[in-house]
Amino acid sequence: AKASGRRAVRFFDPSMQAKLLAKVKLESELRQALEHQQWRLHYQPQVDRLGRLIGVEALLRWQHPERGLVSPGEFIPLLESTGLINDVGEWVLEEACQQLAQWAGSPLLNRLTISVNISPLQFRENNFLQRVEQVFQRTQAPLEQLKLEVTETLFVEARDDARDKMLSLKALGVRFSLDDFGTGYSSLAYLAQLPLDQLKIDQSFVQQVLESKANAAIVESTIALAKSLNLDVIAEGVEVEAQQAWLMAHGCHAFQGYLFGRPVSVNDIEAAVLAQSYA
Ligand code: C2E
Ligand code: CA
Ligand code: CA
Ligand code: CA
Repeated sequence: AKASGRRAVRFFDPSMQAKLLAKVKLESELRQALEHQQWRLHYQPQVDRLGRLIGVEALLRWQHPERGLVSPGEFIPLLESTGLINDVGEWVLEEACQQLAQWAGSPLLNRLTISVNISPLQFRENNFLQRVEQVFQRTQAPLEQLKLEVTETLFVEARDDARDKMLSLKALGVRFSLDDFGTGYSSLAYLAQLPLDQLKIDQSFVQQVLESKANAAIVESTIALAKSLNLDVIAEGVEVEAQQAWLMAHGCHAFQGYLFGRPVSVNDIEAAVLAQSYA
């Protein structure tokens, strides 16, 4: 009787119940976010060695009525575990493609690329290709300006399926960047088998490149690997000039990070491009 009593007490633990309720509430709010038009895209600059804007990464934000702008770390896992990531991911892609279609008419903006993050769960869905192709049809986006960011986890299982889908999209002109490179647990063998265009050096290595010999060695070999596989390379999470200088000295010529700009609205990106063109 004592044991079951203890269990009963645990079950009605108010803090646990509060956490569960909060999660249920969050999930139902996430389900409604699409119809209430609460999703936003922010864009973070990507620059070349002279600091010129070459593209942007699209980063999802949730405009919550009470909590304000919520960052993806707080909701992407729940979107993934509930399957909502498929609809939200499609919204992200469509928004980015509309932006590219809009920029296509402007000589100042039509050379920018937009990188879109694709969740491995979204990529593995059976109807992923159909949904993406419908977005392309609806938006008529210039697909040469579109980059999809995928992560190594995509290639741990069902690698052939992932490769087939990538090849279909590449045939339409879409490019692929491998995000968070070096943080996964998979072997490097897949690199040669996949139609990738870019390696993105993870910010955890970039931010320690001056302090840690091990991280510097990882970054150096990533740059060398990209070169020998004929891939572009970009460093993310660059926060100070000394990191950029080190990266440049070691052959990396594309950068993203707070040093060049935080994720901002599309209006801010367009204003920066205009300002640059008159500079
Ligand atoms: P990520 O793809 O690795 O994106 C880079 C993250 O690093 C972004 O965080 C960005 O704001 C942040 N960042 C950029 N530069 C710096 C820097 O110099 N220093 C530091 N400390 N951080 C920097 P954010 O926007 O909070 O996104 C977090 C993660 O959420 C992303 O990591 C990505 O995995 C995921 N995510 C964001 N948007 C989407 C989306 O539309 N779809 C999917 N599936 N995932 C997304
Ligand atoms: Ca990314
Ligand atoms: Ca990343
Ligand atoms: Ca990351």
